[in-house]
Amino acid sequence: MDGQKITEEAKKKLDSLFEAFSIVSEETHVYLCDMRYDYSRWSKGLVESFNLPSEYMYGAGAIWEEHIHPEDKAAYSKGIEAIFSGGQSDHDMQYRARRPDGEYDVCTCRGLVIKDENGNPVYFGGSIRNHSQKSQIDHLTGLRNQYGFFADLQSYIRNKTPIRIGMAGIAKLTEINEVYGYHVGNEILQHFGRYLMDHVVNRGGTYRLDGSCFAIMSATQSEQKLIDVYEELRAHFRRGIKVEGADIILELNAGMITLDDFNVDDQTVYSCLNFAYEESKIKRHGDLVVFRNELKGESRKELERLHIIRASIAQEYKGFYLVYQPVVDAATEELIGAEALLRWKDDEYGVVPPDSFIPFLENDPLFPELGEWILESALKDAKKLSDLIPGFVINVNLSYAQLERPDFTDLVWDAIRKTGYSSDKLCLEITERCRLLDLELLRNVIVSLRAGGVHIALDDFGTGFSSVGLVKNLPFDTIKIDRSFVQRIEEDERERKLLNNFTNMAGIFGADVCVEGIETTGMRDIIRDYGVHSSQGYYYSKPISIEELLEKAAGGADCFSKKA
Ligand code: C2E
Ligand code: CA
Ligand code: CA
Repeated sequence: MDGQKITEEAKKKLDSLFEAFSIVSEETHVYLCDMRYDYSRWSKGLVESFNLPSEYMYGAGAIWEEHIHPEDKAAYSKGIEAIFSGGQSDHDMQYRARRPDGEYDVCTCRGLVIKDENGNPVYFGGSIRNHSQKSQIDHLTGLRNQYGFFADLQSYIRNKTPIRIGMAGIAKLTEINEVYGYHVGNEILQHFGRYLMDHVVNRGGTYRLDGSCFAIMSATQSEQKLIDVYEELRAHFRRGIKVEGADIILELNAGMITLDDFNVDDQTVYSCLNFAYEESKIKRHGDLVVFRNELKGESRKELERLHIIRASIAQEYKGFYLVYQPVVDAATEELIGAEALLRWKDDEYGVVPPDSFIPFLENDPLFPELGEWILESALKDAKKLSDLIPGFVINVNLSYAQLERPDFTDLVWDAIRKTGYSSDKLCLEITERCRLLDLELLRNVIVSLRAGGVHIALDDFGTGFSSVGLVKNLPFDTIKIDRSFVQRIEEDERERKLLNNFTNMAGIFGADVCVEGIETTGMRDIIRDYGVHSSQGYYYSKPISIEELLEKAAGGADCFSKKA
């Protein structure tokens, strides 16, 4: 109070009390003041987020007051005065405190005065909870949550600490919730979290991401060790766990990534990890997928390239452009439309085909934004083409993550309005990967798009698991047969029979058929006999720039026809 300097002994005592304090108050910030010297220690988090001079401060009350909102200041200083004058021994108030960026956070501050045996105040300690700060703890499992995950990942990247990140999740938890109730689902999640903590890493490195997904980060465990642990985990849940008297058998999925290249950001790493996880779910029946093995080239470089491509989205889509592959009427070979195909180009990496980045970025939060750009750019180009070829239809590919957005249909209508394009000249292509989505949701999206005139095509038919099921359940305008089914159609009678079956099936459901990958005159002649409506392929044209396509189209609708 009177400017007296704190003694070493008093400071030591303050520190040890402070440590005890912070342990029990996880998540909230704490402060402790030795009132005899008006010397305090404040949590590091608080010092950092409000840019206070130091964790240790003389006259912290006055320093903090500088940060209090003008309207809350009077009440605050009155409260503090009451504490220090001995008039009051507890403190409980809410005020707004200013961050370095000038914004105010709402904080609740609680404190208590601790007196010595003679009734003299010695300590004033308490907690400050910042309500604007996102909690980093998942309250169901007590593990760190997604915010904690990203905070830690960023710090590993910043400090260039190599780590391995594993992601594991429970398959079909939604169904378990529906059958047994949420409380059972919750117990399963708690059990899962505890198992990870007990068997893999300590609490610090274990996270619950959203839904049924967990993650671990480890700087020490080898790849093999993590694979082994996952297999144990999998075996444990396959044997079944007892929850509320029921024996519940669970299947898992898992992905892993090694981070040893630090020219990346947290979101790129997360997208790649997610990709590995999805692969485990869709293609490997839950076997752990290591991200590195999914890449063809040298993984370090690949990750860096993905990072740059991803960053280009934020830089006004730098390097992205569209090329167009013509679609022709199978019978007349007249140009009836084109498919927009995405490319990315850069001085260092050259032209990068979409297959080497779209699958990895599909889950990325930035991807839908790129999708909007693709749609709008394609519509703008297509408008020029419809002036030349009446009836021209533009095909645009969608990734399933776009469809999942609740505002997806609005985005489509916005793009149509903005560009003044006619909705019935647009065909959106979706792939069988959209099976990952809820069928009802997908149906609603398709039905409302079709009601507004937009056509919907099922792309790459036959390459997935439940192609026929999808066609049966969803109203498609067009079924696009993947080129792998017609590659050997000239020599292989079975391919011809298969194509016949596909067109018959499409006919049952009222859909047209488009065949992709027509490369020769022979192929063209054969598909003409099978009721195919339209086709695409190098035989007619590779994907070309909009300028080239416009130039061709100016020559008339038969610009790609081969006749003879
Ligand atoms: P897709 O939708 O099946 O596109 C057809 C792919 O087959 C294109 O490859 C095209 O260049 C290629 N192709 C066409 N005709 C022939 C042929 O006669 N012979 C051979 N060998 N290939 C042919 P591309 O452009 O590399 O695109 C690959 C995939 O990337 C696309 O497959 C699509 O799934 C995805 N993709 C491309 N653009 C976009 C986009 O804007 N959004 C989304 N979500 N995915 C896209
Ligand atoms: Ca396509
Ligand atoms: Ca295709």
